[in-house]
Parts: sequence; structure tokens; C-alpha cells
Amino acid sequence: MTASKTSSVDTAGFQRRRAGLWQAVANDLKRNTSAAALDLGLSEQDMSDVFAGRSAPSAELVDAAVARWPINERDLLPINNDCPDGVLLYRAVDSLASARVFQRGGADYYEYRDTAMSRLSSFRPEWIRMLQVVDDDRVDNPGVQWNQGHLLYQFTYFVGPVNYYYRWDGESHVRRMHTGDSVWGLPFSPHTFTARNDSEPAFILALTYGAELMGDARHELAAMGPQIAAQFAWDWRDPAALRAAILRGHLDCAALSTEEFAARTAIPIDRLRVLLTPDKLPDPDETTAMAVALGVSERDLLPITADHPDGVVVCENKTAPRWGYPNPKRPDYEFTELAHNRLHPHTRGLEIRPRSVDTAAAISTPQHQYLYNIGSTPIVMRWTHGGTMRVATLAPGDSVYVMPFVPCAYHLESDADADTACLLDLRIGGTVTPEARIALGAMHPGGLERLLEEDRPWYRE
Ligand code: FE
Repeated sequence: MTASKTSSVDTAGFQRRRAGLWQAVANDLKRNTSAAALDLGLSEQDMSDVFAGRSAPSAELVDAAVARWPINERDLLPINNDCPDGVLLYRAVDSLASARVFQRGGADYYEYRDTAMSRLSSFRPEWIRMLQVVDDDRVDNPGVQWNQGHLLYQFTYFVGPVNYYYRWDGESHVRRMHTGDSVWGLPFSPHTFTARNDSEPAFILALTYGAELMGDARHELAAMGPQIAAQFAWDWRDPAALRAAILRGHLDCAALSTEEFAARTAIPIDRLRVLLTPDKLPDPDETTAMAVALGVSERDLLPITADHPDGVVVCENKTAPRWGYPNPKRPDYEFTELAHNRLHPHTRGLEIRPRSVDTAAAISTPQHQYLYNIGSTPIVMRWTHGGTMRVATLAPGDSVYVMPFVPCAYHLESDADADTACLLDLRIGGTVTPEARIALGAMHPGGLERLLEEDRPWYRE
């Protein structure tokens, strides 16, 4: 049983996008159809069929292309769209069927259940029940079995009396969590969970997700090796030192000496030398002058500031911000803000409590969304994608993946449900970063469609 059980992959779209990648690779390498065919040992007609999507490239043809051209196998493969309706539903019954119990330290420790996952997004969210019960809050309780950490970032939502243990800089911590509390945590930090009693449900929604470290960045760094990868790592803990390192990096990129930079910025060289250390911050006019001289945006000179003491952000539900939306006086929804961090400005955790019966305002966001019905009553969800409105009823324990920019509305089946209806909503940014969004808007008109599915050579013969 996998998360794809309730989904269907768009095969025709995959084949079109694959053909587009072959055409785009040939364009990038300045190979017309006959030159590409000659390189790969095909007839011109067979090569043309691959570019047009009339025939599927064989594994041998992929091997030949990678051997002959400076490309990787993955450059020739698109991703699958398993969400052609804009929303992928995963029912509680499928979640239950995916249940598996793993032991740690010789005893049953966790029961895992899959929830909604899509091939379009890096969410890997699991429902996890704590089977180990402890009677104290000691980090060295022999029943506490630590993991070794993992790559994915983890947003965790707690239900019931769960103890959360985490380790940072060699120091172990424990927090007593309650229903609605949430945590955001960094990759590879060891952590674990136990239940404080076995008389009430104790589980978490462990919403792991990849972010900037996944995909191309990870593959590029892994291929270059640890010595080069380590030089890319910036120390975020001292914003002044990071600001100086960013500026030094721009000078290295542009091969500018301090003297040349001083001449271009009209900032005295002694002052510039100080600005290249963490001791002094540039004033706004100096930042503008440096950005102009470098030909970059001012934001490119600013450090990213994070706020995760001990590698985590803990948010207690009872003190979390709450607000009505979109009209605070007669809201369709009540939101509660959950754990998040400045390192991921496009990650947001929310509780959504629908307040309306029959209709509600549709909500749209550029983020990928994961939703789980954590309440005890059904919630009706309406969404529009490709000009078609669809409706589904989310029962307790059902979960959903929602594609970016798909407007969704949530409402109650009856007023009696208002106090028991609640959706957990985790929103994450995808690989389309702010830089990519600017680049999308900056292309020559007509470029967007060709970026997605290149359908022609770069010149007409
Ligand atoms: Fe984890």
C-alpha cells in the first residue's frame, strides 16, 4: 500500500514533457536533428520521433546520450504528475491499511501510517503512534530510544500526552507536549517521542519535507565531495559575520580587489576594509552603493537570519496567535499559527477551523499544501482546477495534498460541528523559489510554454 494508491499518474503529460526535455537538451548542446542523430547512432527519422514524442527513448538511447553528451540521466527524465485534479485525497482507511509497527530496543516503539503524499512535492508526512510509555521526563530513561536523525526537515503536530526529546550540540532536551502543540526541527538532529500514559491516544503527525537541500543542490554537492561542499556552508549564528562573508563572496565572484571596489563605490578604502569584517555594519547608503557597484540587488547583500535555539522551534498551542479570516467579525475560518522558522519563510503551519455551513471563501496560496482532518467531524472541501469545481468530504483521519494556486474552500456540514471541526494545514515552498519566479516573469514572451515543454529547435532550418 503506497500513497499513490488513490492517485493516477498523467502518463500522456509525462511522455510530452520527456520529449520536450530531449528537444531542450539538443537545443542546449546546439545539435539539430541530424547532428543529434549522428551523435547517437539513430536515423534522422527516429531522432525526430523522440523529439516529437512519437516514440519513447529506450534505456540504451539514454545511455548513449549520457556517454556522448555532458549531461546526466536525470536531465532526460521529467517528474510525474499524480495530481491531475489539483488535489490528491488519501482516505483514513488507506492510512490504516498502511500501518506497520517497528521495534526499537527490543520493544514495540512506533506504529507508522502513511498519509497523503504526491510526487509533485517533497512532503513525506506520517501519522505515528507512540507505543513506549514512560513514567518520568528523564532523557536517559532506558525506554527512550533515540534515532540517528534524518535528512528531511520535520514539522511535528502533537496529539495527546507526548514527550518530545531532541539533541543539539551534544545536549539532550525533553519537552512535555500537549494536543495542538507543534515543533519545527532541522535535518539530522537526533530526536524521539514517547507517551506519558497509555490511557488516552498519544500520536504525532510527523510532516517531514525536503527543502533547499534536496534535489539539484544535494546532487551537485554530493558529486563535488565534502571538501568543496563544506566551503558552501555559511554560519548563520552571527548575522554580522554572515553579512561580511556574503560581501566577500560577491567580491570573489566578480574578481574585484578592495581598491577597485572602493573606487566603484566611492567608499573610502579603510571604511570598506572594516565593512568586510563583522565589526561594523554598512549604513543604508553604503549598502545601496555596494549593490550598484556589484550589479546585484540589495537583498543579495543581506544575511538570512534564523531563529532556532537548540535546532528547534517549539510552539505551544495555548499561547499561539489566533485570528478570524477573511472577515474578522464574521469569519469563514479561524486560524491558529503553528511552529515555523525564518529560515523557511515559505513554510507555514496552521490549524484551520471552518466556521461556515454550506459556503465559505476560497483560499489560494503559492505554497504546496498538506491537510489532515484532526477533528472529529467531517469537513466539506470544494476546489477549482482547470475550470472544474470539485467537492469532497474529508472524514476524520483523511488527508490531502493540494497543488499551489488551487483555490480551496472548507465548510461545515452543520452548525453542530463547529467546535469539533479542525484541519491541520502545512504549507511549504517548492523548488520555484523567489529567484525562479522573477526569472519566469522575465523571459521573452512565449517562453513559459516552451520552458515547460520545448516543442521546437532553437532555429528554423
Ligand atoms: Fe523524525
